[in-house]
Amino acid sequence: MATKKTIMRTCPECGAYFNVEAYEMVNATLDQAIREEVIFGRIFDFTCPVCGHRFRSPYSTAYKEMEKEYIIFLDLDDATDNCDEMISEEELIENQIKETQALFPTYRIRVVHDMMDLIEKIHIFSAGLNDKIITYLGYKIKDDVTLKMKTAKPPIQVNKALFDSLRGKEGQINFGLLSTSPKPIFVTTPTRDYEYLLKKSPLRHQFEEAEGLYQIDEGWAAGIDKVLIA
Ligand SMILES: [Zn+2]
Repeated sequence: MATKKTIMRTCPECGAYFNVEAYEMVNATLDQAIREEVIFGRIFDFTCPVCGHRFRSPYSTAYKEMEKEYIIFLDLDDATDNCDEMISEEELIENQIKETQALFPTYRIRVVHDMMDLIEKIHIFSAGLNDKIITYLGYKIKDDVTLKMKTAKPPIQVNKALFDSLRGKEGQINFGLLSTSPKPIFVTTPTRDYEYLLKKSPLRHQFEEAEGLYQIDEGWAAGIDKVLIA
């Protein structure tokens, strides 16, 4: 089940403008097929009605799983695309957050600004993991690999360590690095590191749910590290 909205897209091939139906809110609990569509990014695919060109163009939306009790808002700052509403994307998300808190007080609420981040969060929550710890581990791995790759020729720049749910083995958590390396780089971290952060680390309270804290990303992880140093 899903709520729809009308948005405007521009064909990158022929430049035609057209209005098209898009998802305002995806409820994956009631519709498992739509979960796949989101995971593979296909809900963001469009076909130009003029020239037939197919292209991907993500838009702001929300994704909810009731069983796992979470909702993720993808905020792409594209309110001008929205044909139905006269309010800004920010206001829209603020309203939706308030509504979610009133209706589902136990839900984890997240705001992301990139399609890949939305998909990563869905994988993390599907695996039953704490996304704050995974984000923190990803941040540390990126840092670590960046340092090691500094001397590589040509130098390799690591943009992000993304949680990789497919390569999971017992006792391991896997990340795939988005980098300038021509070969894919995978990094494994033992599950005991995750358990340590969850239960024993002096940082453990930072990984608990905190009201008003919805953006769990690299910037947030860097802030946690500062807390530790201070
Ligand atoms: Zn076209």
